[in-house]
Amino acid sequence: MHETSIALSILAAVEDAFKETPGAKRVTKIRLQVGMLSLVDPEALRFALRVVARDTPAQDAEIEIEMVKPRFRCLSCGYEWEPSDDDIKKISDDPQLSTLVHINPDVIVSYLVCPRCGSNNVEIVQGKGVIIHSIDIEVDDKDSSS
Ligand SMILES: [Zn+2]
Repeated sequence: MHETSIALSILAAVEDAFKETPGAKRVTKIRLQVGMLSLVDPEALRFALRVVARDTPAQDAEIEIEMVKPRFRCLSCGYEWEPSDDDIKKISDDPQLSTLVHINPDVIVSYLVCPRCGSNNVEIVQGKGVIIHSIDIEVDDKDSSS
């Protein structure tokens, strides 16, 4: 369900880029970076994009999804770390926490402590949300009828 709203905002950005490209014919490729903390299912997102992009210039675009590992920073001592796959699994296996994080990844920081100094003053450096890395648009410069 959440994937559909993400897909819609991606599509809006793709359509904007399309409109701003002179002679744009169709969107050939969309590269996305999905933060693991968003707990977005890449296949569900791909499917949602296919559905919302129907009858748009992006309907046949290839969708490339790269998963981005989370990274945290302690604001007290400056230490940066990546959680292990087990830590991520712990979040996604907890139905209550995973729902919270799925909707708002920032809530995860209230469950984190710095592994070096024990401070809970922690921020997310990367790994939340979905980022459009690039959009490839096929351009037709000569209006050929052949
Ligand atoms: Zn620290």
